[in-house]
Amino acid sequence: MIELEGLTKRYGEKLAVNNLTFAVRPGIVTGFLGPNGAGKSTTMRMILGLDRPTAGDVRIDGKHYDRLRDPLTYIGALLEAKAWHPGRSAYNHLLCLAQSNGIPRRRVDEVLETVGLSAVARKKTKGFSMGMGQRLGIAAALLGDPRILMFDEPVNGLDPEGIHWIRTLMKSLAAQGRTVFVSSHLMSEMALTADHLVVIGQGRLLADTSMADFIARNSRSYVRVRSPEREKLLDVLHRAGVTVVEAGGGVLEAGGGEAERIGELAAENRIVLHELSPQQASLEEAFMRLTAESVEYHAHAEAPPAPQRQWGEGWKKGS
Ligand code: ADP
Ligand code: MG
Repeated sequence: MIELEGLTKRYGEKLAVNNLTFAVRPGIVTGFLGPNGAGKSTTMRMILGLDRPTAGDVRIDGKHYDRLRDPLTYIGALLEAKAWHPGRSAYNHLLCLAQSNGIPRRRVDEVLETVGLSAVARKKTKGFSMGMGQRLGIAAALLGDPRILMFDEPVNGLDPEGIHWIRTLMKSLAAQGRTVFVSSHLMSEMALTADHLVVIGQGRLLADTSMADFIARNSRSYVRVRSPEREKLLDVLHRAGVTVVEAGGGVLEAGGGEAERIGELAAENRIVLHELSPQQASLEEAFMRLTAESVEYHAHAEAPPAPQRQWGEGWKKGS
Protein backbone atom coordinates (compact mmCIF):
# COMPACT_ATOMS: atom_id res chain seq x y z
CA MET A 1 0.00 0.00 0.00
CA ILE A 2 1.19 3.50 -0.85
CA GLU A 3 -0.38 6.36 1.10
CA LEU A 4 -0.08 10.03 0.19
CA GLU A 5 -1.22 12.75 2.52
CA GLY A 6 -1.29 16.35 1.41
CA LEU A 7 1.74 15.63 -0.76
CA THR A 8 3.01 18.86 -2.32
CA LYS A 9 6.01 19.85 -4.44
CA ARG A 10 6.90 23.37 -5.46
CA TYR A 11 9.61 24.24 -7.98
CA GLY A 12 10.06 27.98 -7.55
CA GLU A 13 6.79 29.57 -8.61
CA LYS A 14 5.48 26.30 -9.99
CA LEU A 15 3.27 24.04 -7.87
CA ALA A 16 4.05 20.74 -9.60
CA VAL A 17 2.14 18.62 -7.07
CA ASN A 18 -0.61 20.25 -5.08
CA ASN A 19 -1.90 18.66 -1.87
CA LEU A 20 -2.44 15.11 -3.12
CA THR A 21 -4.14 12.69 -0.74
CA PHE A 22 -4.96 9.16 -1.88
CA ALA A 23 -4.01 5.53 -1.28
CA VAL A 24 -2.86 2.88 -3.75
CA ARG A 25 -4.15 -0.54 -2.71
CA PRO A 26 -2.89 -4.08 -3.26
CA GLY A 27 -4.48 -6.64 -5.57
CA ILE A 28 -5.48 -4.23 -8.32
CA VAL A 29 -3.89 -2.08 -11.01
CA THR A 30 -4.26 1.59 -10.13
CA GLY A 31 -3.92 3.93 -13.08
CA PHE A 32 -2.35 7.35 -12.46
CA LEU A 33 -3.74 9.47 -15.23
CA GLY A 34 -3.11 13.06 -16.19
CA PRO A 35 -2.03 15.20 -19.15
CA ASN A 36 1.66 15.87 -19.71
CA GLY A 37 2.98 18.18 -17.00
CA ALA A 38 0.25 17.17 -14.53
CA GLY A 39 2.77 16.09 -11.89
CA LYS A 40 2.75 12.29 -12.25
CA SER A 41 6.52 11.78 -12.48
CA THR A 42 7.18 14.26 -9.68
CA THR A 43 4.72 12.39 -7.44
CA MET A 44 6.38 9.06 -8.24
CA ARG A 45 9.83 10.47 -7.53
CA MET A 46 8.62 11.67 -4.12
CA ILE A 47 7.20 8.21 -3.37
CA LEU A 48 10.71 6.83 -3.96
CA GLY A 49 12.37 9.53 -1.89
CA LEU A 50 14.20 10.91 -4.96
CA ASP A 51 12.51 14.28 -4.56
CA ARG A 52 11.80 15.87 -1.22
CA PRO A 53 8.19 17.04 -0.70
CA THR A 54 7.62 20.74 -0.03
CA ALA A 55 4.79 19.65 2.27
CA GLY A 56 2.84 16.54 3.14
CA ASP A 57 3.87 12.96 3.47
CA VAL A 58 4.07 9.69 1.61
CA ARG A 59 4.45 6.21 3.12
CA ILE A 60 5.09 2.75 1.73
CA ASP A 61 3.50 0.09 3.93
CA GLY A 62 3.54 2.70 6.67
CA LYS A 63 7.19 3.72 6.28
CA HIS A 64 9.13 6.39 4.43
CA TYR A 65 11.19 5.04 1.53
CA ASP A 66 14.51 5.82 3.20
CA ARG A 67 13.47 3.80 6.27
CA LEU A 68 12.89 0.62 4.25
CA ARG A 69 15.52 -2.12 4.62
CA ASP A 70 16.54 -3.41 1.18
CA PRO A 71 14.00 -1.11 -0.49
CA LEU A 72 14.01 -3.04 -3.79
CA THR A 73 12.36 -5.92 -1.97
CA TYR A 74 9.47 -3.60 -0.95
CA ILE A 75 8.93 -1.48 -4.00
CA GLY A 76 10.21 -1.78 -7.56
CA ALA A 77 9.91 1.10 -9.96
CA LEU A 78 10.37 1.97 -13.60
CA LEU A 79 10.91 5.70 -13.87
CA GLU A 80 11.35 7.87 -16.95
CA ALA A 81 15.08 8.38 -16.63
CA LYS A 82 17.27 5.59 -17.95
CA ALA A 83 19.56 4.80 -15.07
CA TRP A 84 21.79 2.08 -16.47
CA HIS A 85 25.37 2.33 -17.59
CA PRO A 86 25.45 2.03 -21.42
CA GLY A 87 28.72 0.12 -21.49
CA ARG A 88 27.41 -2.62 -19.23
CA SER A 89 25.44 -5.68 -20.25
CA ALA A 90 21.86 -6.15 -19.10
CA TYR A 91 23.03 -9.07 -16.98
CA ASN A 92 25.76 -7.07 -15.25
CA HIS A 93 23.48 -4.11 -14.68
CA LEU A 94 20.95 -6.32 -12.90
CA LEU A 95 23.66 -8.24 -11.05
CA CYS A 96 25.06 -4.99 -9.61
CA LEU A 97 21.61 -3.98 -8.44
CA ALA A 98 20.99 -7.40 -6.94
CA GLN A 99 24.29 -7.50 -5.08
CA SER A 100 23.86 -4.05 -3.58
CA ASN A 101 20.36 -4.94 -2.38
CA GLY A 102 20.88 -8.37 -0.85
CA ILE A 103 19.03 -10.11 -3.70
CA PRO A 104 20.18 -13.62 -4.77
CA ARG A 105 21.94 -13.93 -8.15
CA ARG A 106 19.38 -16.42 -9.52
CA ARG A 107 16.77 -13.63 -9.55
CA VAL A 108 18.78 -11.95 -12.33
CA ASP A 109 18.20 -14.91 -14.66
CA GLU A 110 14.57 -15.17 -13.57
CA VAL A 111 13.68 -11.56 -14.32
CA LEU A 112 15.62 -11.57 -17.61
CA GLU A 113 13.48 -14.55 -18.58
CA THR A 114 10.26 -12.82 -17.44
CA VAL A 115 10.92 -9.76 -19.59
CA GLY A 116 12.19 -11.75 -22.58
CA LEU A 117 15.78 -10.43 -22.57
CA SER A 118 17.62 -13.70 -21.86
CA ALA A 119 18.97 -13.96 -25.40
CA VAL A 120 20.59 -10.50 -25.29
CA ALA A 121 21.50 -10.48 -21.59
CA ARG A 122 25.28 -10.43 -22.24
CA LYS A 123 25.15 -7.67 -24.86
CA LYS A 124 26.00 -4.07 -23.98
CA THR A 125 22.83 -2.07 -23.34
CA LYS A 126 24.18 0.74 -25.54
CA GLY A 127 22.63 -0.93 -28.60
CA PHE A 128 19.25 -1.54 -26.97
CA SER A 129 16.10 -0.25 -28.64
CA MET A 130 13.64 1.82 -26.59
CA GLY A 131 11.48 -1.27 -26.12
CA MET A 132 14.42 -3.35 -24.87
CA GLY A 133 15.35 -0.51 -22.54
CA GLN A 134 11.83 -0.51 -21.09
CA ARG A 135 12.04 -4.27 -20.60
CA LEU A 136 15.36 -3.92 -18.80
CA GLY A 137 13.86 -1.22 -16.56
CA ILE A 138 10.98 -3.53 -15.75
CA ALA A 139 13.39 -6.39 -15.02
CA ALA A 140 15.13 -4.12 -12.50
CA ALA A 141 11.78 -3.26 -10.91
CA LEU A 142 10.91 -6.96 -10.54
CA LEU A 143 14.36 -7.98 -9.26
CA GLY A 144 13.62 -7.79 -5.53
CA ASP A 145 10.27 -9.59 -5.94
CA PRO A 146 8.59 -6.56 -4.31
CA ARG A 147 4.97 -6.41 -3.15
CA ILE A 148 4.63 -2.94 -4.67
CA LEU A 149 5.39 -1.97 -8.26
CA MET A 150 5.33 1.44 -9.83
CA PHE A 151 5.68 2.16 -13.54
CA ASP A 152 5.95 5.67 -15.02
CA GLU A 153 4.49 5.71 -18.55
CA PRO A 154 5.77 2.19 -19.27
CA VAL A 155 4.26 1.88 -22.74
CA ASN A 156 5.92 5.01 -24.15
CA GLY A 157 7.90 4.07 -27.23
CA LEU A 158 6.73 0.46 -27.30
CA ASP A 159 5.28 -1.37 -30.28
CA PRO A 160 1.79 -2.94 -30.02
CA GLU A 161 3.23 -6.30 -29.02
CA GLY A 162 5.26 -4.68 -26.23
CA ILE A 163 2.24 -2.73 -25.05
CA HIS A 164 0.17 -5.89 -24.90
CA TRP A 165 2.94 -7.63 -22.98
CA ILE A 166 3.18 -4.86 -20.35
CA ARG A 167 -0.57 -4.76 -19.91
CA THR A 168 -0.70 -8.52 -19.31
CA LEU A 169 2.27 -8.35 -16.93
CA MET A 170 0.70 -5.60 -14.81
CA LYS A 171 -2.57 -7.49 -14.52
CA SER A 172 -0.83 -10.70 -13.51
CA LEU A 173 1.26 -8.85 -10.88
CA ALA A 174 -1.93 -7.40 -9.40
CA ALA A 175 -3.62 -10.82 -9.53
CA GLN A 176 -0.76 -12.12 -7.36
CA GLY A 177 -1.93 -9.62 -4.72
CA ARG A 178 0.71 -6.97 -5.40
CA THR A 179 0.15 -3.22 -5.45
CA VAL A 180 0.54 -1.94 -9.02
CA PHE A 181 0.66 1.81 -9.67
CA VAL A 182 1.07 2.84 -13.29
CA SER A 183 1.00 6.27 -14.89
CA SER A 184 -0.16 7.29 -18.33
CA HIS A 185 -1.35 10.37 -20.18
CA LEU A 186 -3.65 8.18 -22.30
CA MET A 187 -7.13 7.25 -21.15
CA SER A 188 -7.39 4.61 -23.85
CA GLU A 189 -4.43 2.79 -22.32
CA MET A 190 -5.76 3.01 -18.76
CA ALA A 191 -9.22 1.83 -19.79
CA LEU A 192 -7.72 -1.50 -20.85
CA THR A 193 -5.38 -1.93 -17.89
CA ALA A 194 -6.53 -0.26 -14.69
CA ASP A 195 -9.12 -1.37 -12.13
CA HIS A 196 -8.89 1.90 -10.25
CA LEU A 197 -8.16 5.40 -11.47
CA VAL A 198 -6.48 8.40 -9.87
CA VAL A 199 -6.71 11.42 -12.17
CA ILE A 200 -4.66 14.59 -11.64
CA GLY A 201 -4.37 17.89 -13.49
CA GLN A 202 -1.90 20.68 -12.69
CA GLY A 203 -0.85 18.77 -9.61
CA ARG A 204 -4.36 18.55 -8.16
CA LEU A 205 -6.52 15.49 -7.55
CA LEU A 206 -9.45 15.45 -10.00
CA ALA A 207 -10.81 11.93 -9.47
CA ASP A 208 -10.13 8.86 -7.34
CA THR A 209 -12.58 6.23 -8.52
CA SER A 210 -12.97 2.67 -9.75
CA MET A 211 -12.60 2.27 -13.51
CA ALA A 212 -16.09 0.73 -13.60
CA ASP A 213 -17.58 3.82 -11.92
CA PHE A 214 -15.69 6.13 -14.22
CA ILE A 215 -17.03 4.27 -17.25
CA ALA A 216 -20.58 4.16 -15.90
CA ARG A 217 -20.51 7.88 -15.17
CA ASN A 218 -18.82 9.01 -18.35
CA SER A 219 -19.40 6.71 -21.27
CA ARG A 220 -22.74 8.17 -22.21
CA SER A 221 -24.49 7.01 -25.31
CA TYR A 222 -26.05 9.54 -27.62
CA VAL A 223 -27.66 9.73 -31.04
CA ARG A 224 -26.43 11.70 -34.05
CA VAL A 225 -29.19 13.10 -36.25
CA ARG A 226 -28.91 14.86 -39.62
CA SER A 227 -31.80 16.05 -41.71
CA PRO A 228 -32.16 18.38 -44.72
CA GLU A 229 -35.33 19.61 -42.96
CA ARG A 230 -33.57 20.58 -39.80
CA GLU A 231 -35.87 23.39 -38.65
CA LYS A 232 -38.99 21.30 -39.13
CA LEU A 233 -37.41 18.39 -37.28
CA LEU A 234 -36.33 20.62 -34.39
CA ASP A 235 -39.92 21.85 -34.12
CA VAL A 236 -41.38 18.36 -34.03
CA LEU A 237 -38.83 17.12 -31.50
CA HIS A 238 -39.35 20.15 -29.33
CA ARG A 239 -43.13 19.60 -29.27
CA ALA A 240 -42.63 15.93 -28.40
CA GLY A 241 -40.30 16.88 -25.54
CA VAL A 242 -37.17 15.30 -27.04
CA THR A 243 -34.10 17.30 -26.06
CA VAL A 244 -31.47 17.81 -28.74
CA VAL A 245 -28.37 19.97 -28.92
CA GLU A 246 -26.55 21.36 -31.93
CA ALA A 247 -23.18 19.75 -32.41
CA GLY A 248 -22.00 21.83 -35.36
CA GLY A 249 -21.82 20.94 -39.05
CA GLY A 250 -25.59 20.55 -39.20
CA VAL A 251 -25.49 17.63 -36.78
CA LEU A 252 -27.97 17.36 -33.94
CA GLU A 253 -27.34 15.19 -30.91
CA ALA A 254 -29.90 13.61 -28.59
CA GLY A 255 -29.57 11.40 -25.55
CA GLY A 256 -29.01 7.69 -26.06
CA GLY A 257 -32.25 5.71 -26.22
CA GLU A 258 -34.03 8.38 -28.25
CA ALA A 259 -33.17 6.89 -31.66
CA GLU A 260 -36.45 4.95 -32.16
CA ARG A 261 -38.58 7.85 -31.01
CA ILE A 262 -36.83 10.32 -33.31
CA GLY A 263 -37.20 7.91 -36.24
CA GLU A 264 -40.91 7.43 -35.57
CA LEU A 265 -41.55 11.17 -35.12
CA ALA A 266 -39.70 11.89 -38.36
CA ALA A 267 -41.77 9.27 -40.22
CA GLU A 268 -45.10 10.52 -38.79
CA ASN A 269 -44.23 14.03 -39.91
CA ARG A 270 -42.77 12.97 -43.28
CA ILE A 271 -39.35 14.44 -42.46
CA VAL A 272 -36.36 13.09 -44.39
CA LEU A 273 -33.44 11.93 -42.25
CA HIS A 274 -29.92 11.58 -43.62
CA GLU A 275 -28.54 10.11 -40.44
CA LEU A 276 -29.87 8.56 -37.24
CA SER A 277 -26.98 6.83 -35.56
CA PRO A 278 -26.48 5.76 -31.94
CA GLN A 279 -22.97 6.63 -30.66
CA GLN A 280 -20.82 5.91 -27.66
CA ALA A 281 -18.87 8.87 -26.26
CA SER A 282 -15.26 7.81 -25.74
CA LEU A 283 -13.57 7.72 -22.37
CA GLU A 284 -10.77 9.75 -23.92
CA GLU A 285 -13.32 12.50 -24.42
CA ALA A 286 -14.48 12.23 -20.81
CA PHE A 287 -10.86 12.47 -19.65
CA MET A 288 -10.25 15.52 -21.85
CA ARG A 289 -13.27 17.24 -20.33
CA LEU A 290 -12.23 16.37 -16.80
CA THR A 291 -8.76 17.78 -17.30
CA ALA A 292 -9.54 20.49 -19.89
CA GLU A 293 -9.03 23.39 -17.52
CA SER A 294 -5.87 21.94 -16.09
CA VAL A 295 -3.93 21.15 -19.25
CA GLU A 296 -0.72 23.11 -19.13
CA TYR A 297 0.26 23.14 -22.77
CA HIS A 298 -2.23 22.66 -25.56
CA ALA A 299 -0.82 20.98 -28.62
CA HIS A 300 -2.43 23.70 -30.73
CA ALA A 301 -2.92 27.06 -29.11
CA GLU A 302 -6.67 26.76 -28.91
CA ALA A 303 -9.19 26.70 -26.10
CA PRO A 304 -10.60 23.34 -25.01
CA PRO A 305 -13.96 22.58 -26.64
CA ALA A 306 -16.91 23.99 -24.75
CA PRO A 307 -19.19 21.30 -23.28
CA GLN A 308 -22.07 20.73 -25.64
CA ARG A 309 -23.90 17.72 -24.32
CA GLN A 310 -26.16 18.61 -21.46
CA TRP A 311 -28.63 15.83 -20.91
CA GLY A 312 -26.76 13.70 -18.41
CA GLU A 313 -25.31 14.33 -14.98
CA GLY A 314 -22.18 12.57 -16.12
CA TRP A 315 -21.24 15.38 -18.43
CA LYS A 316 -21.88 18.13 -15.95
CA LYS A 317 -19.60 16.59 -13.39
CA GLY A 318 -16.42 17.21 -15.33
CA SER A 319 -17.34 20.29 -17.31
P1 ADP B 1 4.05 14.57 -15.71
O1 ADP B 1 4.94 13.44 -15.31
O2 ADP B 1 2.63 14.41 -15.25
O3 ADP B 1 4.12 14.87 -17.17
P2 ADP B 1 5.94 16.15 -14.18
O4 ADP B 1 5.85 15.62 -12.79
O5 ADP B 1 7.09 15.71 -15.00
O6 ADP B 1 4.56 15.87 -14.93
O7 ADP B 1 5.98 17.74 -14.13
C1 ADP B 1 5.04 18.51 -13.41
C2 ADP B 1 5.42 19.97 -13.50
O8 ADP B 1 6.58 20.21 -12.76
C3 ADP B 1 5.70 20.45 -14.92
O9 ADP B 1 5.23 21.77 -15.03
C4 ADP B 1 7.19 20.41 -14.98
O10 ADP B 1 7.68 21.35 -15.92
C5 ADP B 1 7.59 20.77 -13.57
N1 ADP B 1 8.87 20.16 -13.17
C6 ADP B 1 9.12 18.85 -13.08
N2 ADP B 1 10.38 18.61 -12.64
C7 ADP B 1 10.95 19.84 -12.44
C8 ADP B 1 12.22 20.30 -11.97
N3 ADP B 1 13.17 19.43 -11.62
N4 ADP B 1 12.41 21.63 -11.90
C9 ADP B 1 11.46 22.49 -12.24
N5 ADP B 1 10.22 22.15 -12.67
C10 ADP B 1 9.96 20.83 -12.78
MG1 MG C 1 6.01 12.17 -16.51
